[in-house]
Amino acid sequence: MLRKLILIIVFLSPLFSFSQDSKAPNIIMMIGDGMGLSQISSGMYSNNNYTSLERSQHVGLIKTHSFDNLVTDSAASGTAMSSGVKTYNRVVGMDENFIPVKSILEISRDKGYMTAIIATSTIVHATPASYYSKVKSRYDYNEIASQLSKSNINFFVGGGEKYFNDRRDKRNLMNEMDDYSFANSLENFIEINSNKIGFLTNYDDPIGKHEGRKPSLEDMVQATIKKLTSFNKPFFLLVEGSQIDWGGHDNDSEHVISEMLEFDRTVGKVFNFAEKDKNTTVVITADHETGGLSIVDGNLEDSKVIIKYVSEDHTATMVPIFSLGPYSSLFNGIYDNTEIFDKLEAIIIK
Ligand code: MG
Ligand code: ZN
Repeated sequence: MLRKLILIIVFLSPLFSFSQDSKAPNIIMMIGDGMGLSQISSGMYSNNNYTSLERSQHVGLIKTHSFDNLVTDSAASGTAMSSGVKTYNRVVGMDENFIPVKSILEISRDKGYMTAIIATSTIVHATPASYYSKVKSRYDYNEIASQLSKSNINFFVGGGEKYFNDRRDKRNLMNEMDDYSFANSLENFIEINSNKIGFLTNYDDPIGKHEGRKPSLEDMVQATIKKLTSFNKPFFLLVEGSQIDWGGHDNDSEHVISEMLEFDRTVGKVFNFAEKDKNTTVVITADHETGGLSIVDGNLEDSKVIIKYVSEDHTATMVPIFSLGPYSSLFNGIYDNTEIFDKLEAIIIK
């Protein structure tokens, strides 16, 4: 019902007329894992009181609870956002009856979109996995990698090489994926001329930004956007700033803020692209808040914040959603994370 309603709005509203007769819009979905309002505020105050998110055209709030728990995990919230259903914590790409559901990436792929995923965790971690795999346990990384190998995603960038070439079942997925080229550096990724490239940045989890992680998220995203735009097709790109969450779990403010700032710089680059392109919808949100982070003191002169945490886990507070570009006004309001899927689907299948 809701989906139909959004479709009707998209068709009828004169607000959207600027794009009615042009080609289907590109979609860039950006998820800051664990990025609540206090994480954003901490990054902002640590950056001369500025965040690139200020350039957003529309802002809303998202309810994050899962099917079985007020406090969601990244698998259930990832599935809600990618596929429009509430499910159990730890379940990826399946509804509450364990029926596999199609993700917005898969829908766009089947509509002729180019597709790409970039994460600062392993590429098989719950958030990116929610866009291409269907498993009862988010921790079944070998199976998730196997499903990625058959997903036909054009470009994927993230850690976790061991789930492809050092597996329990002794298969080497990188050999099996003979239509893909695999890059061993960002320079190599940039110079490979192929419509299917995997760039496994690390054997296991990438290290934290505060520990010197390279290449930067903004460089990986810009290189991928350049590839995506070289085809005469629309594209769907998922970008995850994965480790804002990890800093929250560890109550490690240096980790949280450095990840937040990298994500924010990437938002700035994505907005630069979208503003120039004029046919790209950018949606930025979080899957949940992590740490119950609170800013209790600090000062603007030194860009300094004093932070306290009430938890080493996720919390159930609403998270903000930011948008820019065609149809971005659809993302105004207060609504469930599942509706992010509904709105994106309406844009893609119109
Ligand atoms: Mg994640
Ligand atoms: Zn977490």
